[in-house]
This record gives sequence, structure tokens and C-alpha cells, in this order.
Amino acid sequence: MSNVSTNSTESSFRARGRVIGVPKRCWCGEGIMALTSKSDSNPYRRYYRCGFAVANKLRNDEHTFKWVDEAFVNEIDTLDAKTVELEKQLKDIRTERFELEKMVYEKMEKEIFEKVEDALDEAKSSNKRMMLIIVFLCMIMIGLSKLLG
Ligand SMILES: [Zn+2]
Repeated sequence: MSNVSTNSTESSFRARGRVIGVPKRCWCGEGIMALTSKSDSNPYRRYYRCGFAVANKLRNDEHTFKWVDEAFVNEIDTLDAKTVELEKQLKDIRTERFELEKMVYEKMEKEIFEKVEDALDEAKSSNKRMMLIIVFLCMIMIGLSKLLG
């Protein structure tokens, strides 16, 4: 960003197509410079200007001219709109994810209990029962680590 100051008659510049936000490049292909106004009507107000127009000291041309403060207001408006859209998308994703996790968890829980109940019915000795409890705990651990991972 340059701080070169020029005398300008910016109020008479015609806009060639409305630029929303901070201009990146003029329609002519030149880069944009950030300058400070020295006009009586807008002293020290910063503006964006086409590099070509600055270099050639153009007046009343159609090259890019935009007040920095107005560009920032545009940017903030655009960001606000984007933020609202992103928040909506994020909420949708969260809802989908939550429902998926709930479904997976309920299915897993049901399967584990069924398996354990079958196994407990078959278990005759306390040793075998102890083994099954350990297996059951391992399955919960694996299930939890999958959910959390
Ligand atoms: Zn230009």
C-alpha cells in the first residue's frame, strides 16, 4: 500500500461499474493504490485509485476510484452476509452429524447388549462370565473411541 498523496478532483470521477468492497484491480488491468485525499471537501480521507490514472495524473476519467471507508463498509456488509450463510451451513452439518452419531450409537448399543445377553445365557462358569464382562468393557471402549475419533 502506498501513501503517496495527490491533489484530486475525486468528486467528479465517474464510476465505471460499481465496485463492491475493496477494489483489487482496475477494469483497465492496473493495480490499485491507496492514497490520501487533499481536497477541501474530503481532507485526509483515504481512497483507492487506479495506478494508471495516478501515474498519468488523470482527471475526470473512468478508472477505479473508491473511498476506503466506503469500501470497508461494503466489505463488512459482505462478510456479515457470508457469516450468516456459514452459520446456517454449520448448523445443518452439526444436526446431520448429531443424528448420524445417535443412529450409530443406538445401533451399536443394541448389538452389544444382544451379544452380551446371548453370551451370558450360555455362560456356565464365573470365569467365563468374568471374561465376557471384560470383552463387554472392551467393546464399549472401542465403541467410545470410534465415536470420539
Ligand atoms: Zn484503470
